[in-house]
Amino acid sequence: MIDSDSPKRTELSELGEFGLIDHLTEGIKLVNESTLKGVGDDAAVIDNGDFATLVSKDLLIEGVHFDLTYTPLRHLGYKAAVVNISDIVAMNGKAEQLLIGISVSNRFPVEALDELYAGLRLACEKYKVDLVGGDTTSSVSGLFISATVIGRAKKEDVVYRNTARENDLICVSGDLGGAYMGLLLLEREKQVFKANPEMQPDLEGNDYVLERQLKPEARADVLEKLREAGVKPTAMIDISDGLASEVLHIAKDSGLGCRIYENKIPVDVVTADVATEFQIDPTTAAMNGGEDYELLFTVDVNDFDKVKAIQGIHIIGHMLEKAEGEYLISNGGSLYPIEAQGFNHMREQD
Ligand code: ADP
Ligand code: MG
Repeated sequence: MIDSDSPKRTELSELGEFGLIDHLTEGIKLVNESTLKGVGDDAAVIDNGDFATLVSKDLLIEGVHFDLTYTPLRHLGYKAAVVNISDIVAMNGKAEQLLIGISVSNRFPVEALDELYAGLRLACEKYKVDLVGGDTTSSVSGLFISATVIGRAKKEDVVYRNTARENDLICVSGDLGGAYMGLLLLEREKQVFKANPEMQPDLEGNDYVLERQLKPEARADVLEKLREAGVKPTAMIDISDGLASEVLHIAKDSGLGCRIYENKIPVDVVTADVATEFQIDPTTAAMNGGEDYELLFTVDVNDFDKVKAIQGIHIIGHMLEKAEGEYLISNGGSLYPIEAQGFNHMREQD
């Protein structure tokens, strides 16, 4: 309620994104027995008999989440679907339906929206998801995309963020930091182009990180590999805000501490090269870059051999009791506290 007598005004920047979510949702009581999990994980979990229905939503805003000067609309459509599907994957579920809301100004011709939908359709085809609805409105300026994804999993298969246990191993799929390096390259070329429109973009040899930024994938394939190996993660989250932020979610929500070893964090050579070019430590890129959409999960220490044998999965650390805190162990053997410095749009902007 807005109280006109009260001069109090709290800036959004004081809370940040996570603080704001906590503030807005604090004390919400779930009144339906069917709501197994409300706010606080990659997706809400709803009882559906033997199955759990999983629901998640993401908003993509022009000028905040994407820049159309270098983001092809087809890629944007693909990414809008993928980032949502990734949240279902992070619950160990299968995405099945997608609803898309778009709000668009008359600056866009129909052909542009056709491109956006070509990307959405491609992602739906790839991940076997049905586009079943949405909403369309005009906007005063710019493009807004809101996506809601519905998925499901057997009830006993659902994996939460807050269920890691002491001594569990911390694992990550693929490699990290690439999407952020792709973004830095695209931003740099945009500045060059603005200064001199005759200049051609210099993006040679960096396809890998550009693709990581422009065309991410949801790691449903990793779930399959884990299932084949007979491993069920004890906790899981997808990496949308950087390794640091996500590992803190697992640790804090599970009431535990953790250690991550710098020399175990997977970083691709192209990512490392671009990071060096920007004078960024590749480890910092992996810890604090966002949008890789890899999976971060914990497994029982007895699953070490099984997980070790899976290609593309890296064991990067382990969980400890809460009192041990959350630390990165550097290549030199020093301990650095893990701090979330992921994309925090509310703190970045004025
Ligand atoms: P992710 O990065 O996995 O998409 P978020 O960090 O966006 O997750 O959201 C964390 C949790 O907070 C989720 O459970 C999400 O549904 C919930 N959430 C985010 N924004 C709001 C909001 N405005 N009102 C209620 N719940 C929200
Ligand atoms: Mg997520």
